[in-house]
Amino acid sequence: MASTKYIFVTGGVTSSLGKGIIAASLGNLLMARGYRVTIQKFDPYINIDPGTLNPYEHGECYVTDDGAETDLDLGHYERFLNVRTSQANNVTTGRIYNNVITKERRGDYLGKTVQVIPHITDEIKSNFYRLGETGDYDIVITEIGGCVGDIESLPFIEAVRQAKWDLGESNFLVIHLTLIPYLAAAKELKTKPTQHSVKQLLEAGIQPDILVCRSEKPLPADIRRKLSLFCNVQLNSVIEALDAETIYDVPLLMRKEKLDERVLTKLKLAHKEPPHIDEWRTFLSRLKNPTNEVNVGLVGKYVELPDAYKSIAEAFIHAGSQLECKVNVHWISSETLTEKSVKRALSDLDGVLVAPGFGERGIEGKIEAIRYVRENNIPFFGICLGMQCAVVEFARHVLGLANAASTELNKGTEHPVIDLMEDQKKITDYGGTMRLGAYECELKKSSKAFNAYKASTIEERHRHRYEFNNKYLKQMEKAGLKATGINPKSKLVEIVELDNHPYFVGTQFHPELKSTVMSPHPLFVSFIDAMIKNKKN
Ligand code: GLN
Repeated sequence: MASTKYIFVTGGVTSSLGKGIIAASLGNLLMARGYRVTIQKFDPYINIDPGTLNPYEHGECYVTDDGAETDLDLGHYERFLNVRTSQANNVTTGRIYNNVITKERRGDYLGKTVQVIPHITDEIKSNFYRLGETGDYDIVITEIGGCVGDIESLPFIEAVRQAKWDLGESNFLVIHLTLIPYLAAAKELKTKPTQHSVKQLLEAGIQPDILVCRSEKPLPADIRRKLSLFCNVQLNSVIEALDAETIYDVPLLMRKEKLDERVLTKLKLAHKEPPHIDEWRTFLSRLKNPTNEVNVGLVGKYVELPDAYKSIAEAFIHAGSQLECKVNVHWISSETLTEKSVKRALSDLDGVLVAPGFGERGIEGKIEAIRYVRENNIPFFGICLGMQCAVVEFARHVLGLANAASTELNKGTEHPVIDLMEDQKKITDYGGTMRLGAYECELKKSSKAFNAYKASTIEERHRHRYEFNNKYLKQMEKAGLKATGINPKSKLVEIVELDNHPYFVGTQFHPELKSTVMSPHPLFVSFIDAMIKNKKN
């Protein structure tokens, strides 16, 4: 354990300062210097995982290869670091308590009174160290969700305090992310909220080593000096984090402020060479100097909160940069789409993506959108529920199966073209019971998917309960909707494509979850490519 270095990232003043992006940017720079890095997030809420949370509450639920339903910050970690995360990278208060209570029932505590300190904090700490103990990492970055001073994050903060003595001072570092507000009336940046939040950390026994200060204006020297003096950190450990044009600028901004150097010095790690960030710079320069532009409609029901579709939005950015194409995403509420309104809403777009989702709200609008793009040769990409809606739409309007539906939305439908698998029918609990995580899929040669992936076997992540009903497969294929991706074990249909259409692809899995800056997702690349071509025509 002693050879692994631990960096804890806490937040103060307000939430939503972008701890995940700062942690991911730091991880990116350290990896670019040749260190093996992973990032984990500890969330203070009582849900065992965010899988049961409404996207309006907490944004998208990100799914890992091993089928963990996690916080969307894990998506940032994967996108910035180009490494895979797992269940161990996201732990909630609910999971900690669940573990402790399970042990208590088993009799593991041998008659002791089970308490927050030491039992809960011990459980938190053993989860802090789990990834480090594998020996796979030189540095483990741990983001503590929420704000210091919140009642619910207290046990995590206390565990961080204790961890310093388990790990040894030179293996332990705390970065505190805070906000320096600008008061327009006074024309001044204000340090007081930061002073107070550092005071709160100090009351909990933690002296931050580095302050990362979010600010809309550059921090002048006197403000840096003041922060250093009042918050008891070295002057060169006051790091400015200016609002960025894109989140992908942040690693370079942190590099400019020498955050990586400060961290290495404090952890007594060799600086090795300067980070290799040329490819990252190339990505950014393509992103900022596009030679093409497309307009894509994202049809979904959570469009008021773009965080609900975070990975899709980011996947467009990665793939767009590869093609030097600016992708303008137009968020369209599926509830507003009707037979009458659909033309006005979609006819000017170069392509339409129909989003994943759950439940009945907005379904008919998604089906209207798909009918419109199918009949008008507009490139279409359907993900999960989006793919299921494409199957329903095709059944209703091409096969003429009136009232065809998914049994998620109409249990008694005559034509359950999307239906539950037998093993799902017995399940009554909601949490963690969907088809989750990575599954293999075999691609049919000469399909759009095969051309995009340039591989015959792929692996993609799932999060759904309902499936394409194979009883309808023959009929659909005969009429032109082909199953081009099949799970080799279960024979479940994972991809459908339409013949004689510029681009009509639906995937039961979530390709967006595997798109990263350094490896944009092939299906997003091929979809954007189809939009560019469609525009030219
Ligand atoms: N609600 C659908 C299902 O459970 C689709 C889920 C999704 O889009 N992630 O199968």
